[in-house]
Amino acid sequence: MAQHFIAGQWVASTSGETLPVIDPATGQPFDQIPRGTAADIDAAVSAARAARNGAWGRMTATERGRILLRMSALILERQESLAQLEARDTGKPMSQARNDIVVAARYCEFYGGAADKLHGEHLPYLNDFQVVVVHEPYGVTAHILPWNYPAQMFGRSVVPALATGNAAVLKPSEDACMTPLALCGIAKEAGLPDGALNVVCGLGEEAGHALTHHGDIDFVTFTGSPEVGTIVQKAAAERTLKCVLELGGKSPHLVFDDADLERAATFVIKAITQNAGQTCSAGSRLLVQTSIYERFVAMVAERFAHTRAGTPEQDRDCGPLINRAQQQRVQGFIDRARASGLPVLAQGRVAEGVHPGGYYVAPTLFGPVPRQHELACDEVFGPVLSAMPFEDEADAIALANATDYGLIAAVWTRDGGRQTRVARAMHCGQVYINAYGAGGGVELPFGGVKRSGHGREKGFLALQEFCTVKTIVQYHGQ
Ligand code: NAD
Repeated sequence: MAQHFIAGQWVASTSGETLPVIDPATGQPFDQIPRGTAADIDAAVSAARAARNGAWGRMTATERGRILLRMSALILERQESLAQLEARDTGKPMSQARNDIVVAARYCEFYGGAADKLHGEHLPYLNDFQVVVVHEPYGVTAHILPWNYPAQMFGRSVVPALATGNAAVLKPSEDACMTPLALCGIAKEAGLPDGALNVVCGLGEEAGHALTHHGDIDFVTFTGSPEVGTIVQKAAAERTLKCVLELGGKSPHLVFDDADLERAATFVIKAITQNAGQTCSAGSRLLVQTSIYERFVAMVAERFAHTRAGTPEQDRDCGPLINRAQQQRVQGFIDRARASGLPVLAQGRVAEGVHPGGYYVAPTLFGPVPRQHELACDEVFGPVLSAMPFEDEADAIALANATDYGLIAAVWTRDGGRQTRVARAMHCGQVYINAYGAGGGVELPFGGVKRSGHGREKGFLALQEFCTVKTIVQYHGQ
């Protein structure tokens, strides 16, 4: 049975209660996690504070970096067993799970190498003054994570916090927390001092609520739904804490009539089937210039019909969704759209031989989707793609920006001027030109605008997010 990781020890919940860990490919439980309480959170925050004030807080940036680099090496050594655990916990195809583990290792490598390269500044000021600007860790950082990429999210959220010397308390999703726990064991083995990293499992409204409302945290970062993100931000605001939110999106591909359509079609399908569409940066809207709409959409549809949802071992385009509620939610979008007469351009299939209790949904392509339809506006978080025609560049930009979200976008055109104009006009945090990068790009600053959240993760910039800036003004005399 899995346990919390607090102060370097594996411990049960103070409640003694547990929650089942369900395999999404079968709907059957395969383990149990502790159902965390406010008392467990309190113990984790105390341990983090003690680490910050103790051995962890005294470590040099280089020593912190070396621990993260050792973690990276250990993760790569155990890639296969970690990938199997990730696939069992989330249902994702084995090749995607293997890639996720490599990405988790890459975060440790990137931030391990960067830990002692975040330097401050010396500012020119009055002649008899010296002014330096230094970056200092906030102290104890709280991390609330979702279920879609548990290993990657650990790397993306917790690792830069540790690299900058913060002590972290993580509440992973109740639906997928096995690899974050396994990574704690690896962190301990790599020499991370007790208390620098703590994980409390449990439900959002219990352990998650207790963490975000704890009086001794200094920073909150959350990835998940806009609804819960708003609750988390309110809790942070009550204590005037910094809060980074990553809340998903409705990301568009803009395909112009001069695009390399072969290349675009391949990326368009991968961007919505990867992780069964349960990706904040899934490319869920396919905007196509009217002059090539029929031709390009037919090309995508022909390939889309061959997509398959299967077990992790079958390693098809996607796996099952994470739980019954998500399966029903996504199927609900498909059923309502069909019932309202929206044309299905193509539908993939659930592969033969899957367990009947698995949470599968067939990838589905709809089009043309009316601009006000829920499939054009709402995040489905499943393998559902909405095709929509646009007239010209101005119409494409208006349509792309016409949702409440703004996370990423892709522009498909060979026209260099248009590439830049459209990229600059997108209201979002990342734009790809003739490419699409859902999920990857450890080096690339990532985050949203509007309802997709605020603050930036990934890249060197994330180190600055986890630090407060102090300006030291010294009068040194003539
Ligand atoms: P969620 O927002 O409910 O949960 C995300 C995390 O927040 C989990 O760890 C959960 O335990 C925790 N949480 C829930 N309520 C909380 C509370 N009151 N206080 C503190 N923490 C709390 O997301 P979900 O139920 O996992 O998924 C629902 C929808 O969210 C999805 O359909 C999708 O649209 C969106 N989502 C987005 C992302 C993303 O990457 N942006 C990831 C997962 C889900």
